[in-house]
Amino acid sequence: MAEFGVVTPSVEVAGVKQPTATGKALSVVALRKTYGDVVAVDEASMEIAAGEFVTFLGASGSGKTTTLMMIAGFCEPDSGTITVGDRDVTKLAPQKRNLGFVFQQYLLFPHMTVSENVAFPLTLRGVPKDEIRRRVGETLEIAGLSGFGSRRPRELSGGQQQRVALCRALVYRPPVILMDEPLGALDKKLRDQLQIEIKTIQQELGLTVIYVTHDQEEALVLSDRIAVMRNGLIEQFDTPRELFERPRTPFVADFLGAANFLPGRVLQNTDAHTVVRLDQSGGLLKARRHDLASGTPVKVAVQPGRLRACAPDDGFCTGTVEIATYVGTLVRAGVRIDGGDAPLLRLEVPAGRGPVTGERVGITVDPEDVNLFPTEQGG
Ligand code: ADP
Ligand code: MG
Repeated sequence: MAEFGVVTPSVEVAGVKQPTATGKALSVVALRKTYGDVVAVDEASMEIAAGEFVTFLGASGSGKTTTLMMIAGFCEPDSGTITVGDRDVTKLAPQKRNLGFVFQQYLLFPHMTVSENVAFPLTLRGVPKDEIRRRVGETLEIAGLSGFGSRRPRELSGGQQQRVALCRALVYRPPVILMDEPLGALDKKLRDQLQIEIKTIQQELGLTVIYVTHDQEEALVLSDRIAVMRNGLIEQFDTPRELFERPRTPFVADFLGAANFLPGRVLQNTDAHTVVRLDQSGGLLKARRHDLASGTPVKVAVQPGRLRACAPDDGFCTGTVEIATYVGTLVRAGVRIDGGDAPLLRLEVPAGRGPVTGERVGITVDPEDVNLFPTEQGG
């Protein structure tokens, strides 16, 4: 695989177009892996463009690591193919795939200095010493580690060690870098900071990254596209906005936005809207047009941030604010809807405009923000 050529220092990097950062970087087709009865990954398929930041997001055990390890070559698929650029690498050894890795455990060599650690992939590839020194220096500078080259890993903080691990993956400019929960061991503040640094470096260098996390917020911050995984299946592979605003399943609606779900039945369709009668309140709710026949039982899904409190007569239902919690810029409210014992409806409204505990309110929503999922008859 061709190198990107001259590595430029961080100050000049922003304006430099990476020549290979176009087209298809990686694709997997019908990738499958079983362990006995457990289907760890079930026919995963996706195509990732060069320069894209893609995240596998899912709960523990959903198959994220197994998918990544198959791409890396540390885990042999039962079936399916993996292509890097135009090359089928399915049967190749990990070191022949030319991919970079960063894992949760930093896996730095404790007896080597920072510079030696970062130099390792180049040393392994027989790159001349002068070239190594130059590239290591530049890479450390990009990650804000100039001046740390002669330290040992134990003389660094967790965040600095993770940056060194990142440098070691970056230094030979692999076409694709794989990261498995690289920030999982760090505290929240450091994680937030390193997320931004990783994203900045990725954009400046035009890197293709496949990233694994179970943290929704982290995935939203970093990703161009997110593959939401569940029980070994890719539930939806889309941009953060699409996943949030147009979830294709109730699971995705709940996993990314903690949606409210209200049972109801389609009453009628107009040109622009689908009108639903809610089971609990009997109220009518307008959703953007869905392709569902009258009478279809549905789950209405709305994100808490898209609901608004209004005058009791103006909403699709009424209720009483049972709890209102101030959380910085937001107020989170729980509203007990009249006419049944459904879970509290959750609202998130800008602080200062929030409803207060005990208040009688109506609830309203923009039809564009309402997603409908047909439910099993009687389910
Ligand atoms: P994630 O990274 O999303 O937490 P994994 O890919 O590690 O999930 O695991 C997916 C499923 O495969 C889980 O049910 C897990 O227990 C199983 N699994 C993973 N690796 C092995 C293994 N080496 N042997 C047996 N089962 C495994
Ligand atoms: Mg994992």
